[in-house]
Amino acid sequence: MVDLNKLSPKELQAAMQQGHTVEWGRMGSSATNVRYSIALPKRRGRRRKCHCGCDQPVTHAGMANGMALTNACELGIARWVRTGRSKPSGLTNNLSRPSAAGE
Ligand SMILES: [Zn+2]
Repeated sequence: MVDLNKLSPKELQAAMQQGHTVEWGRMGSSATNVRYSIALPKRRGRRRKCHCGCDQPVTHAGMANGMALTNACELGIARWVRTGRSKPSGLTNNLSRPSAAGE
């Protein structure tokens, strides 16, 4: 059992949102668990570069079910929380956009 008192507010929120803490901290899936982000602790020295193409250092971790699944810059992780992908989506996704009025 997970001690809910030990979870951070964000983790607690994610746990409540998905309605369970089964395999919390042992198995996390970006597809089936609620995604959330945490800021990585500040460290001295150089950080790894983010892979999303922004050229920024990695500052945040993408979490699901108490597991860190990925990390990237703040924007990249915000994108990952929203969509499950940290890289900006390409032109292919424009197909789902409503076309401009008058076309
Ligand atoms: Zn980035």
